[in-house]
Amino acid sequence: PATATRRPVTDPLAILHEVYGYPAFRGAQQAIVEHAIDGGDALVLMPTGGGKSLCYQIPAIARHRAGRGVTVVVSPLIALMHDQVGALDELGVPAAFLNSTLDGDEARRIERDLLAGRLVMLYAAPERLLTPRFLAMLDSLHERGKLSLFAIDEAHCVSQWGHDFRAEYLGLSALHERYADVPRLALTATADAHTRADIVQRLALDDARLFVSSFDRPNIRYTIVEKADPKAQLLRFLRDEHEDDAGIVYCQSRRKVEETAAWLVGEGVPALPYHAGLDADTRRRHQDRFLREEGLVMVATIAFGMGIDKPDVRFVAHLDLPKNIEGYYQETGRAGRDGLPADAWMTYGLQDVVNQRRMIDEGEAGDDYKRLQRDKLDALLGLAEAHDCRRVRLLAYFGEASAPCGNCDNCLQPPATWDATEAARKALSCIYRFQQHGGMAFGSGHLIDVLRGKTTDKVRQHGHAHLSTFGIGADISEAQWRGVLRQLIALGHVRAEGEWHTLVLDESARAVLKGEVSLRLRQPSEARRAKAAKAGR
Ligand code: ADP
Ligand code: ZN
Repeated sequence: PATATRRPVTDPLAILHEVYGYPAFRGAQQAIVEHAIDGGDALVLMPTGGGKSLCYQIPAIARHRAGRGVTVVVSPLIALMHDQVGALDELGVPAAFLNSTLDGDEARRIERDLLAGRLVMLYAAPERLLTPRFLAMLDSLHERGKLSLFAIDEAHCVSQWGHDFRAEYLGLSALHERYADVPRLALTATADAHTRADIVQRLALDDARLFVSSFDRPNIRYTIVEKADPKAQLLRFLRDEHEDDAGIVYCQSRRKVEETAAWLVGEGVPALPYHAGLDADTRRRHQDRFLREEGLVMVATIAFGMGIDKPDVRFVAHLDLPKNIEGYYQETGRAGRDGLPADAWMTYGLQDVVNQRRMIDEGEAGDDYKRLQRDKLDALLGLAEAHDCRRVRLLAYFGEASAPCGNCDNCLQPPATWDATEAARKALSCIYRFQQHGGMAFGSGHLIDVLRGKTTDKVRQHGHAHLSTFGIGADISEAQWRGVLRQLIALGHVRAEGEWHTLVLDESARAVLKGEVSLRLRQPSEARRAKAAKAGR
């Protein structure tokens, strides 16, 4: 007994305390970490901010201490690699990354450290990993039993169904073929059933244990308002609920980012723009300020956010519709990582539906892919038009059942609904009359004018006051009509075509005209909801 040698600490909880200074594991972390230390494969589905990094970092440390060598972390994002390696450096854990930002000397030094077994973790982009040079190094480590573990971060990138497919990820199946005995941990915050199945299949993880965490972010309050005057609505939201708070405002285009940021500054809101069109230096400066200073509003395209770990983002606002529910969840998930109340707020209107549909229809992608994109858009539109709990819908999309949350706009203030079946038929027949009468198609504005019986210049010019559908919808407000058209376009019964977004009937409109489809819509009422949001705080 006197000869007992000092064994390195490989107990995960001890490592959590000693290296990270955290008192306890969160959620499934401990089970995942133990499984990985024992050499099991795993697929980890955990929401953003859930603590995925520790799930592979602690096994990496434990296994390195046990003499098993280096953990290779595959990551698609250079900024993320920088941050992680920087953080590990501060914790005193030897880690490095290999990517295109390094010069030859730096890269060679890291390669030497790697081969000498000095690194606990090496981060690399997939395209780098699969080069002959890199694989030769892995071979050498593997032969010596010093290739400990593969962690594949952002594993949804391997799936076309996922929201950011990266072809290079497909090559990662080679890791399994080449190093079958090295355990693999795939991690992602995108958990819908399609993506999950794709990851399992493409990375050959059939025998991997699945760890699914709840995707609920109970401290985030979801609110989706109809777009009336989006800038004014945003400003009211900021002033009423988020004075001096840090937050992110997402816009679809670079130009809109610039415009919105400048406009907010003019209104006295400290805002900065961020998009991929700005030079790297400006982007870095704006990001640093957002992270360091308090109460800044970042107006950004989706180029901003991946890997941003700012705990006190109090709101995420969308001025435009995200691409799909995964995108919405990821983007809104950047709010409230500290667990304190936060808002996910979005304006959404007819034009959003038209634009998104057209972007898909006119895109270069193949038919299968387009169908997939349309299905995803439909799911998002379903969420936006929902009159029941937003959270229930959101979680259901990720395969999780839940009860009404009490912390979304619809729970806090159940919206009034109306039966729009008859109105939908009126709108469709009016579009049909346009086509019959002169064979022309018109946009939604004119259609609503005709339905409501307004005698505009355009109505006079085209003789539309003589149509049998003129004025048949005078009892329905303009906002209600917009809701009807939004639905009809969202459901694909009407298409908005060409530069002027003229409305054309789809074959499927027939079922609606025949009364085979019924529509129940939210009653539009911007003022009611603004008031509710205020009262609820
Ligand atoms: P993800 O990659 O899932 O988005 P991260 O790994 O970046 O999440 O973790 C989010 C934050 O939570 C980080 O600041 C991390 O240090 C912290 N964290 C993770 N696990 C724990 C824990 N067990 N105790 C305390 N903080 C934790
Ligand atoms: Zn709810």
